[in-house]
Amino acid sequence: MSAQIIDGNALAKKIRLEIASRTSTLVGKGIKPGLAVLLVGEDPASQVYVRNKVKACEEAGMHSLLERLPTDLSEAALLKRIHELNLDPSIHGILVQLPLPKHLNSHLVIESIAPEKDVDGFHVANAGALMIGAPLFRPCTPYGCMKMLESIDYPIKGARAVIVGASNIVGKPMAMLLLQAGATITICNSKTKDLTAHTKEADILVVATGRPKMITAEMVKPGAVVIDVGINRLDDGKLCGDVDFESVKTVASAITPVPGGVGPMTITMLLLNTLEAAERL
Ligand code: NDP
Repeated sequence: MSAQIIDGNALAKKIRLEIASRTSTLVGKGIKPGLAVLLVGEDPASQVYVRNKVKACEEAGMHSLLERLPTDLSEAALLKRIHELNLDPSIHGILVQLPLPKHLNSHLVIESIAPEKDVDGFHVANAGALMIGAPLFRPCTPYGCMKMLESIDYPIKGARAVIVGASNIVGKPMAMLLLQAGATITICNSKTKDLTAHTKEADILVVATGRPKMITAEMVKPGAVVIDVGINRLDDGKLCGDVDFESVKTVASAITPVPGGVGPMTITMLLLNTLEAAERL
C-alpha cells in the first residue's frame, strides 16, 4: 500500500483563491484587511517566515505591514508599538514572530495584543475560548491540519486521534479542535511511556515534536492518516518532518509531506484569520 499524499501546496492554493475573492469583496466595501507582522531581531528562520507571510498577504490583496525591530528593543517599546497597532483601524491582525529575544517576556507581549486582532490565536482569551468550544481564532497550524483532514473527507467523529507533542501553539489546540470535531483524543509528550502503544492506536496521528523522523512505520496503525507538523533542517540542508515519510507512507492511508504539507496551510490560515477579523467589523 502507498498512502495518498495530502498536498498542502495545492490545498493552500485553492483556499487562497477563495480568500482573495472574499478580500476583494471586502475591499469593494471600503475595508482592506490588514496584517501587521513584528519581527524583533535577526533570527534567520524567522526572517524567512515573516517574508513569506507578508508576501502571501500581498498576493491575497491584503494590506501588510512588516516591522523589523532591533534585537535590543526594550519590552516597554515593543508593548507601546503593539498598543498603537491595537488602536490602528487599518490593521485587523497583529502577529509577533516567535521566538523573541530572551530579554523579552513572550507571555506578556502576546497578552498585550488585543484579542480581536490576535490572528495567531495565542492570547490567553483566545486559548480559553477555544477550550470551551467558542473560538474567535483557531491557531493557524492546527486549523490548517483540520482543513487537510476535511479535504480528504475524513470521518473524524468517533475516530481515535493521537497527538504527539503538547505545545501551546500546536499540540494542545490541535487536541481541542479534534475533540470538538468528535474524535477521542490522546496527547503524548516527552515523558509518555511506551509511545508506540499510543501511536499504534491512532486512526489520526498528528506529530509535532521537532524530532526529525521519530515516527517510523512500526509505530503507525495500518490505514491511519498521518499529519506531520514538524519542520527540521538536516545536516545536508534538506528539510524533513517528525515522521519518517518513506517508511510511514507504506502503512498509512494518507500522509502529509514535508515540505509541501502543513507549512503552506499554516500561512493560509493566517490569511483566513486576518480576513475574518476584518469581516467582523
Ligand atoms: P515545542 O518544542 O514547543 O513542543 C514539542 C512538544 O513535543 C513538547 O510537548 C514535547 O514534550 C514533545 N516531545 C518532544 N520530544 C518528544 C518525544 N520524544 N516523544 C513525545 N513527545 C515529545 O515544539 P512546537 O510545537 O513549537 O513545534 C513542533 C514541531 O513543529 C517543530 O518541528 C516545529 O518546527 C514545527 N512547527 C511547524 C509549523 C508549520 O507550520 N508546519 C508551525 C509550528 C511548528 P514536553 O511537553 O514533555 O516537552
